[in-house]
Amino acid sequence: NIIQVRAEQSGLSFVYHPVSALPTGVRGDEKRLRQILLNLLGNAVKFTETGGIVLKVGYDDSASSPNLLRFQVEDTGCGISPDNLEGIFHPFQQVYIPKRHIEGTGLGLAITKKLVDLMGGHLGVSSTPGQGSTFWFTVDLPIVEDGRGPVRPPDRKIIGYRRDRKRILVVDDKPGNRGVIVNLLVPLGFDVQEAVNGQEGLAKATEYSPHLILMDLIMPVMDGIEATRRVRQSPDLQDIVVIASSASAFEFNRQDSLAAGCNDFLPKPVLADDLFEKLRTHLGLEWVYEAQPLPEEPPQVGAAMLVAPPKDTILTLADLAAKGKITDIRQQIAQIEQSGIEFHPFAAELDRLSKTFDMDQLTSFLNLYLEEKE
Ligand code: ADP
Repeated sequence: NIIQVRAEQSGLSFVYHPVSALPTGVRGDEKRLRQILLNLLGNAVKFTETGGIVLKVGYDDSASSPNLLRFQVEDTGCGISPDNLEGIFHPFQQVYIPKRHIEGTGLGLAITKKLVDLMGGHLGVSSTPGQGSTFWFTVDLPIVEDGRGPVRPPDRKIIGYRRDRKRILVVDDKPGNRGVIVNLLVPLGFDVQEAVNGQEGLAKATEYSPHLILMDLIMPVMDGIEATRRVRQSPDLQDIVVIASSASAFEFNRQDSLAAGCNDFLPKPVLADDLFEKLRTHLGLEWVYEAQPLPEEPPQVGAAMLVAPPKDTILTLADLAAKGKITDIRQQIAQIEQSGIEFHPFAAELDRLSKTFDMDQLTSFLNLYLEEKE
């Protein structure tokens, strides 16, 4: 969803290709898979100015194993020259693009390659300069028979915490990374400030005295390791909890950050649940949960009792849900809300579903109303 929002902001179209032949469930390392896809999609968004990005997922018919899934990210971006393509998966390989400063460390693809290797898969690329690139990988993921995936405790949505307001300083050079954290924490009632590198982080820490600092490790001007060392040396700042955050594939990041005085380490991309758990532990928080647990099952009949907008609107919504266009869905919800008080319960349910980013649930909800009106 982060990638999608960024793509939408930059005016790119983003198409997720559902493949009907896919099984309902596969068994694999969810975190690694997520990071691989985020890295490849993130690059595609970063290096594509016009056109679009497509993610394709499907089975490779020619493969020897029946479980060999192929993920493919295709973009219409600047492409990569044959010379640069050669070492593209090596650490610190960054292609120089004139007149364009692109943030990055040149580590993303090396990490991606390492993660794909760890999953026993294969990563490949083909690219035509000026036309675009295709990154793909295959991984052998056994199909889960019952298709229900791992059993999890029921999700309870955190809506806040008890006791005094906590101040959090987010230090990261990438606005997108800071944005993700700020958007997670502000709605829960945290007071959040941002800094773009270690040096600014130290200055803000002195002025704002946060309870906790979330510290990216790799940053220009002053990195997170150096900034943490200085926090620990400063009589005024030394007691602040510092949680380092960086790509997890390289173990030295974790060790170095702990050696420099960080209290803990949070692998990137930061997952909301992991972040909340670290905050709870280090700040001694007690969460306040939403009264109703989120339903595990898609909404059933009965939900269709709500007063619904005209069929055209529902069809538009269903189309947006199929494309995963969450921003547009939100705009539609606002319009439905304005069209009359009788539509408020429908808009509220839609709003709740859209916030879970579960497009399948949203689609089943809308289908209830389409069937009813037919
Ligand atoms: P970085 O952190 O610099 O993005 P990566 O390892 O992810 O590091 O990428 C290395 C280099 O490969 C990038 O700097 C860029 O020049 C090139 N690259 C990666 N993905 C793409 C893409 N989809 N289109 C064009 N160039 C790309």
